[in-house]
Amino acid sequence: MNYSDNGFFDDFGGKYVAEVLRRPLDELEKTFKEAMKDPSFIKELETIQRDYIGRETPLLYAEAATKILGGAQIYIKLEGLANTGAHKINNAIGQCLLAKRMGKKRIIAETGAGQHGVATAAACAKLGLECIVYMGEVDVRRQQPNVAAMELYGAKVHPVTSGTRTLKDAVNEAMRDWAANPDTTHYVLGSALGPAPFPDMVREFQSVIGREVERQAAERNLDVAAMIACVGGGSNSMGFFAPFIDKDSPRLIGVEAGGIGDGIGENAIRMSGNASREGILQGYKSRFLLDSDGQALPTRSISAGLDYCGIGPQLASLGKSGRVEFTYARDNEALDAVKFFARNEGVLFAMESAHAGAAAIKLAPTMPKDKAIIVNMSGRGDKDIFITCPVFRKTEWKQFLESELERLNNETDIHEAKVMTCQK
Ligand SMILES: *Cc1c(COP(=O)(O)O)cnc(C)c1O
Repeated sequence: MNYSDNGFFDDFGGKYVAEVLRRPLDELEKTFKEAMKDPSFIKELETIQRDYIGRETPLLYAEAATKILGGAQIYIKLEGLANTGAHKINNAIGQCLLAKRMGKKRIIAETGAGQHGVATAAACAKLGLECIVYMGEVDVRRQQPNVAAMELYGAKVHPVTSGTRTLKDAVNEAMRDWAANPDTTHYVLGSALGPAPFPDMVREFQSVIGREVERQAAERNLDVAAMIACVGGGSNSMGFFAPFIDKDSPRLIGVEAGGIGDGIGENAIRMSGNASREGILQGYKSRFLLDSDGQALPTRSISAGLDYCGIGPQLASLGKSGRVEFTYARDNEALDAVKFFARNEGVLFAMESAHAGAAAIKLAPTMPKDKAIIVNMSGRGDKDIFITCPVFRKTEWKQFLESELERLNNETDIHEAKVMTCQK
């Protein structure tokens, strides 16, 4: 079964939260379950998915890549063509519609790298909701382009100065805000994790990816042997895998961030290594990278979206049962995959998604030509130029940044946009 049993996926999941958060979580669960059975809600969701997100997203036959690798037929689900550039908008739009249904006009969200903040800010702009994004002060400084995008969409970015001033502190701050303002506010959590009902809810809003793939593969009579997705918290993978979980095939493969090596703090491998442990953190029970005191260990990845110490509870359970297999790709393998698919298919993978691409490059040659592999390209790589350019063109990139700085310092006529105050 896809849905949790009272919030639990076997041993994992649950709702380990302070008493004050029980009521908003219960209200959310009730609203979510009713909405999913309400034809008018489904119609509203499907209309905005079509007209605003741009669904359905294409399933591309990677003909040249298939030929070069000489094995299974490779197909790429181009989720990166969704408005805002990645799958995260599917969840943000779904949850914001639920907030409206509950009569809540104030939205809060946490963000690390900024992708979930951008998606939520965009969804709020579209749906006329107030948006506050909690973001660690360190991340605010590192991720200026995303902060600028959130502000363009009209969101208020709130820098968090507690703890390590990164993602987990932003989550804590968002939880605190929600506990203080449950009647007016909905907390849009960004991945298939956290306390129930978030894992079920986020999976359902992302499962549009898997349902489209199922239809697209059937239309072309594909014999799908494997589906591959990258795994941060687990939202794109769970949405992609959802319709296939209860079946024996295809193989479902989750790809984690292998970072730069096997040492502590060198990767974000929770399922495909043996460094993680069971634990309870931020409201749910799952597998985490923790020290002996139960504190989160540092993680590392070239892709900010996979750089996280925990994993969604349903994936932890599916890993334990063996239905989902896990592997990892190193930073340099992901970079090679970006290059490979850009050159041969004209498709620029996000660094996160390139981990799935790297796994496909390894797997395809080992499989027969009459089988198909489908890779979920969860996002496109435009957002990653600050990561890829210093790797591929270091000297030129440095010169570019220096000249930009000079231009900013010298130029007197940088346009000052006349900000129209379009109050809603
Ligand atoms: C955030 C992000 C991910 C990782 O998050 P999941 O919840 O595991 O899907 C993967 N790809 C992209 C493009 C992202 O922005």
